Amino acid sequence: MALRYVVQTGDPVLREKCAPVKNFGGELNALLGDMKQTLYAENGAGLAAPQIGVPIRVVVIDAGEGYYEMINPVIVSASGEQCGAEGCLSVKGKQGTVVRPNRVKATYFDRNGKKHKLTCDGFFARAVCHELDHLDGVLYTDKAQEVHDLPPEE
Ligand SMILES: [Zn+2]
Repeated sequence: MALRYVVQTGDPVLREKCAPVKNFGGELNALLGDMKQTLYAENGAGLAAPQIGVPIRVVVIDAGEGYYEMINPVIVSASGEQCGAEGCLSVKGKQGTVVRPNRVKATYFDRNGKKHKLTCDGFFARAVCHELDHLDGVLYTDKAQEVHDLPPEE
């Protein structure tokens, strides 16, 4: 495993429509290992493959309810509404207020190619929406009601 550089806003890879994963196995597992390590090193709630420069449909999420690897994820239904603060490892030093669904149901594949269903609420649902947007080249700043600078870290 290796820590990967998280690309920052302005890099065109963040605006790509990412390709579905077709080949499961060695290379994908290596990528997932790097993404997991990078996610925790950066204290993120989620990380999408394009954020480390790989435009394929893979995200890793830990929104406080366990670690999830989601390959070719799709939101199949969304309901409710929540308004809250959001940041992004690719938009360092900023935070915005974004309206998201309060509950989403998604399908995804794990690293072994097994399909799963997931229902999540609250912050977990927010993280899923945020990360899946990355796979279509969308950043939270495109949807935020306002974006402001965070105070410098001490
Ligand atoms: Zn992000």
